[in-house]
Amino acid sequence: MSEKIAVIGGGPAGIIAAGIIGSRGKDIVLLEKNERLGKKLFITGKGRCNITNAAPIEELFDYINTNKNFLYSSFYSFTNENIIELLESMGLKTKVERGNRVFPQSDKSSDVIKALEKFLKKNNVRVMLSANVKNIIYNNDKFIITIGEEKYEYDKVVIATGGVSYPATGSTGDGIQFAKRMGHNIIPLKPSLVPIEIDNEWIKELQGVSLKNVQLNAYCRNKLIQEEFGEMIFTHFGISGPIVLSISNGINKHANKELKLK
Ligand SMILES: Cc1cc2nc3c(=O)[nH]c(=O)nc-3n(C[C@H](O)[C@H](O)[C@H](O)COP(=O)(O)OP(=O)(O)OC[C@H]3O[C@@H](n4cnc5c(N)ncnc54)[C@H](O)[C@@H]3O)c2cc1C
Repeated sequence: MSEKIAVIGGGPAGIIAAGIIGSRGKDIVLLEKNERLGKKLFITGKGRCNITNAAPIEELFDYINTNKNFLYSSFYSFTNENIIELLESMGLKTKVERGNRVFPQSDKSSDVIKALEKFLKKNNVRVMLSANVKNIIYNNDKFIITIGEEKYEYDKVVIATGGVSYPATGSTGDGIQFAKRMGHNIIPLKPSLVPIEIDNEWIKELQGVSLKNVQLNAYCRNKLIQEEFGEMIFTHFGISGPIVLSISNGINKHANKELKLK
């Protein structure tokens, strides 16, 4: 009998995983707790979805701050070109903009979701919506998944439930808890690519001030740890904008940090 496989999470990762598994003739179901697929994907790139970057892969590694080796096999097993080809083969036209950023030609993230749904259909993936997985138990070589009052049995399970940002889209970190309960070691989660809160009260007076062509340097114990050049904005809680999001990625592992703006 064919193996039964479940993918939990109907975001881009779960959809691609389920589609590829389905393309190998497996019995596959995609479980999504929302009433539709790709709720977070829908809001990406301000509703346009920046699909990938068309630069050579070796160049993309320059933007990875920590543990580049971990991503080596993912980057080369399913490349930026592969995702463009896959979406184009499902009828989505794409375009490349400044900085090699790839978008759907229509500027609509919903068209990316439609192409991914077509990919699922082509590969015979059964999709169960409003399927909020509550628990997974591993017993006698089988995974027992609880959804509501029902229990389902699978030979293999892929957890693709996303991170913990924008929980309203469904990414509430459930998968991290499932993995933890099944004995996986979970390292402490840290925010990345986020605006930065600043404690100083005076920051509120600058709310709304937007800056271009500025240099933002981050220091830890007087040592420069990251520098970024470009645009930023002061908000009611601190700072935001492209260079702030980039620098947040580098400073999140340092306890004592100082920012200097030039
Ligand atoms: C505002 C914003 C803009 C962004 N813009 C871009 C961009 O332009 N380009 C880009 O590449 N990235 C962008 N990102 C990042 C991108 O959205 C994420 O990297 C991507 O969505 C991660 O995909 P995923 O499939 O791993 O997880 P998610 O997209 O988070 O999907 C996980 C899915 O799992 C489901 N789920 C969770 N728990 C359960 C459960 N217990 N049972 C069943 N289902 C469950 C959730 O409902 C969700 O649908 C943006 C993110 C944000 C917040």
